[in-house]
Amino acid sequence: MDSTKTALITGGSRGIGNAAARALVREGFRVVVNYRTAEAAARRLWEDLNESYGMGCCRVYRADVADRAQVEALFRFAGGVDVLVNNAGIAQQKLFTDLTERDWDRMFDVDVKGVFHCCQCALPYMIHQKHGNIINISSMWGQVGASCEVHYSAAKAAVIGMTRALAKELGPSKIQVNCIAPGVIATEMNADLDEETMKTLREETPLGVIGKPRDIAQAVCFLAGAQSDFITGQVLGVNGGMII
Ligand code: NAP
Repeated sequence: MDSTKTALITGGSRGIGNAAARALVREGFRVVVNYRTAEAAARRLWEDLNESYGMGCCRVYRADVADRAQVEALFRFAGGVDVLVNNAGIAQQKLFTDLTERDWDRMFDVDVKGVFHCCQCALPYMIHQKHGNIINISSMWGQVGASCEVHYSAAKAAVIGMTRALAKELGPSKIQVNCIAPGVIATEMNADLDEETMKTLREETPLGVIGKPRDIAQAVCFLAGAQSDFITGQVLGVNGGMII
């Protein structure tokens, strides 16, 4: 446990980011949790964590990761960040032929440029400290591609490419950069999928279950902690065996 380290999690108002924030506080990190719209949910998280683990263990801040000025303000609010979890993301299901340029741009603005903005804002402190840890949340679809999610798959593949290249560039500064590629996880992101589709996805998963946000949160804690000190540039699949 290291109570002096600060972790910033983007998109932490719900789903995987929320579970990661809770898990990191349990591990002794102070967390700064970013959200874009879900103010009430972010406030609930703030209240829960500060009541349970002591005032100051969690701070929340509203910002759109696609907007550079808002991300810069987020990092001024956060102060030095030791662990950055680039989790904020959007998904969309549409035939490739129906995708608009606006769909494509928004997907890349949030899921790729958001990671770019956050990494650039986090790095001056990390490079100065000669330590730091960046954990990007990609997707198994970034590894193998998903039908009707071409822009999402391309964006998540870009995050894997950024992870590998940044790990090489930042290794000499003792900064780790890794990536988690979740399988199907029960969050609002999948709320539109009908029961039949969820059943099929469950059956296609060797472990026979849909993942939970805490499955990803535990992987985040592993990559954020000392047990993974010699790991960088890797893509950790947390997918019940869906992609092997
Ligand atoms: P979710 O339940 O839809 O939550 C998404 C989170 O991202 C919310 O907190 C949302 O904030 C935030 N967000 C969205 N756009 C944002 C923006 N422009 N700026 C800042 N925050 C933004 O999604 P999830 O399932 O937890 O997914 C988290 C990450 O895991 C995503 O990167 C996703 O692609 C990835 N992933 C998920 C699955 C899955 O099956 N669920 C699988 C593979 C990968 P507000 O609520 O405040 O708008």
